[in-house]
Amino acid sequence: MMNIEKIRMDFPILQKKINDHQLVYLDNAATTQKPKPVIDSIVNFYVQGNANIHRGIYQLSEQASNNYESIRKKVKDFINAEKSHEIIFTSGTTESINLIADSFGRTFLNKNDELIISEMEHHSNIIPWQMLCKRKKSSLKIVSFHDNGDLNIDQLRKTINEKTKLIAITHLSNVLGTINPIKEICSLAHKKNIPVLVDGAQAIQHLKIDVQDLDCDFYVFSAHKMYADTGLGVLYAKEKWLQKLEPTRYGGGMISKVTMQKTTFAEIPFKFEAGTQNISAVHSLGSAIDYLNNIGIDNIHQYEKKLLSYALNKLNQLNGITIYGTSSNKSSIISFNIDHVHHYDAVMILDKLGIAVRSGTHCAEPIMNHYHISGCIRVSIAFYNTTKDIDHLIKGIKKVQEMHKLNE
Ligand code: PMP
Repeated sequence: MMNIEKIRMDFPILQKKINDHQLVYLDNAATTQKPKPVIDSIVNFYVQGNANIHRGIYQLSEQASNNYESIRKKVKDFINAEKSHEIIFTSGTTESINLIADSFGRTFLNKNDELIISEMEHHSNIIPWQMLCKRKKSSLKIVSFHDNGDLNIDQLRKTINEKTKLIAITHLSNVLGTINPIKEICSLAHKKNIPVLVDGAQAIQHLKIDVQDLDCDFYVFSAHKMYADTGLGVLYAKEKWLQKLEPTRYGGGMISKVTMQKTTFAEIPFKFEAGTQNISAVHSLGSAIDYLNNIGIDNIHQYEKKLLSYALNKLNQLNGITIYGTSSNKSSIISFNIDHVHHYDAVMILDKLGIAVRSGTHCAEPIMNHYHISGCIRVSIAFYNTTKDIDHLIKGIKKVQEMHKLNE
């Protein structure tokens, strides 16, 4: 059993007042709040352990390097990768995807080849592939989703052909909440030797991730969405790919030997980590993983699932609400509009009540186009949220509806 009241005490920001109301933070898909041990780990790093890594041989630097590498192993264990050197630290999901698009594209993509993405991708998993296809004169094939938010798997099956070079797909949609059948997609793709990149930005904090079981070739995520610091991400890639791919950024730390004429690169993972890394954020990620492991990711998933169905149930009891994304396999994210009320107006009123939710296109304009809407409100749940938070939200939505009636 999770003791939510005790857990909430670990997150100092949750005690904050916004407009004289206790903060109700329901924008966890944008970024998560940080627990005290994560905040402390950043302070401790600077108080006790700050030095650059993989450079000095003095004690402090060796200690910083060892800690950094121990966290790489922690990440490996967290997603059940086979080897620590399959974990590359980047600046975020966006950089991880760009790295693969640039590197994979350079070596493996040719004119008239095809890449497949879905209609439910975040812009970070659209634009790098669009740009790549433009550069290489290849084509980007889009697999649509059904109105309930489920991926059109039949269409995916039909889209895969001998020209397909890679499939890039989100694990969990940041708007629809849909959990995609990644294992099935990987198995389909691998029958034709096509690699699969999974955007795990919204899945890593909610689901138990086992990259070996999923059998994906690449899995990417951001630390800040899993209770750690900003400016840090992870790229997991199967060793066979990391051996074949070239680095796309060059500088200190990624070389084996340099002369004025020629450079040879370091072994993996270092050849992909040019320049000074976000060392303090890596510490925070280690601490966030310990924190999540302590609670148990399966407990988190079960609790959030209950909260999601509580929220969906309450929302469905209201009149004049349209929900986008009603897949039976969905997690923690509810996007909706209130009849006749602009989503910006709605969230501004909710903000007056201390309720932080997102409005707009959520960096997923193709999803808005699918439903012919300019945007929507998004509520995204974390394990520190409670039924009380949802009750405040529902009260807030009723207030929005009342105010709209008064203005009619
Ligand atoms: N993909 C998805 C599904 C996301 O939700 C996000 C963040 N909203 C990203 C990619 C990009 O993550 P970041 O901005 O941390 O690089």
